[in-house]
Amino acid sequence: MKRHYNYIIAGAGAGGLSLAYRLSESSFSGLRILILDGDPKNKNDRTWSWWEKGEGLYDSILENKFQGIQFHSASHSRLMAADPYAYKMIRSQPFYDLCKKAVADCDHIDYVSSHATHIEEAEDLVHVRAGDEAYTTDYLLKSFPTEEMDYSDSLYVSQHFGGWYIKTDNPQFDPDVATFMDFRIHQKDDTRFFYVLPISAHEALVEIAIFSNDILKPENYDVLIKDYISEYLFWEEYQITEREYGVIPMTNYPFWKHNTQRVYNLGTYGGAVKPSSGYAFSRILRHADRIAKAISEDKPLASTYKSYQSKYLLYDETLLDVLLLQKKSGADIFSNLFQHNGAPDIFSFLDGDTTLKEEIKIFSRMPKLPFLKGFFRQLG
Ligand SMILES: Cc1cc2nc3c(=O)[nH]c(=O)nc-3n(C[C@H](O)[C@H](O)[C@H](O)COP(=O)(O)OP(=O)(O)OC[C@H]3O[C@@H](n4cnc5c(N)ncnc54)[C@H](O)[C@@H]3O)c2cc1C
Repeated sequence: MKRHYNYIIAGAGAGGLSLAYRLSESSFSGLRILILDGDPKNKNDRTWSWWEKGEGLYDSILENKFQGIQFHSASHSRLMAADPYAYKMIRSQPFYDLCKKAVADCDHIDYVSSHATHIEEAEDLVHVRAGDEAYTTDYLLKSFPTEEMDYSDSLYVSQHFGGWYIKTDNPQFDPDVATFMDFRIHQKDDTRFFYVLPISAHEALVEIAIFSNDILKPENYDVLIKDYISEYLFWEEYQITEREYGVIPMTNYPFWKHNTQRVYNLGTYGGAVKPSSGYAFSRILRHADRIAKAISEDKPLASTYKSYQSKYLLYDETLLDVLLLQKKSGADIFSNLFQHNGAPDIFSFLDGDTTLKEEIKIFSRMPKLPFLKGFFRQLG
């Protein structure tokens, strides 16, 4: 007989494990939950940074936390206080370890190291096959696509990046200050910037992010990072201890249309990536909270996707329109944004926590014509 679970979480990445971590709380002990993922999730395969007010669920495993936010562009540089936010940074392995330990310590969640290979939705349950095992579940929450994504009717650009963890013999960094965006580099025909996240006075992650669909090979990012270090950080001596590369979709594609009555998508394929910035981690954590709340209150899971479809989506679409359809310079736009607004104002705007008055203030200082054109085109 197939084993039955109330929820199967397929995919133990940021989306799946942050949800499992919330559901490992004793208030959910009446549920039977299964996690499936064939990847051992035992590596530092990514670094997540995000801003947050006050204490957070993952503070015990932070790699670092910054109170200062540095912005650079060709026209100006500005060091800002993040307060009341802190800019936080964690690496994936401590996150996977923490969540997996919480799951292992509770009796109501099973973890099976197999990929889901077959998913079939019946009227009142979902059949899932993984390895040689077959399961049924009331609801499947998965972090990978099972259908073709056709982005052709959407605004779409990849944010791709490459970074080096670096160690220096001499103290080179202020561990309280994150270089959030540095646009001083040559922009080619796209939007590109560096960020520098120190871990100590001697160690930092130096990473380039590029908005374009022309994904580079690792060695091409490496050349750009090497040049940036010599031109802007002025070090001659350093060791590269680790490297990371990745791609994130920035799009207004309605990922939630792939959700069904019983199968819901999490993380990137649940629409958690902010279309205008590529930030996803804090949205993933908040989605995990909303799902846990919906489960505890017996509310439909579909309701947890509503915030992705708010007026902030229209703002994201406006920026993507300006960058992709009107081909305006991202460096100029972000420079303008950081010249007229402090880091906390920008963080709360990107989080969707602003009032209409605050939003009008932010937009009124942007280049008017392109933003009005983009706004009304995306509205219509
Ligand atoms: C290198 C990198 C750095 C990033 N940095 C940031 C950042 O600093 N800040 C930020 O906000 N966002 C960042 N992001 C974006 C986003 O936060 C991450 O991509 C995040 O990991 C997305 O979570 P996810 O659960 O959707 O996907 P993932 O974390 O990739 O997890 C998907 C999981 O699904 C599993 N899986 C796949 N197929 C199956 C199957 N058939 N059955 C079972 N399991 C399956 C995979 O093994 C994987 O474990 C970054 C992304 C990358 C790639």
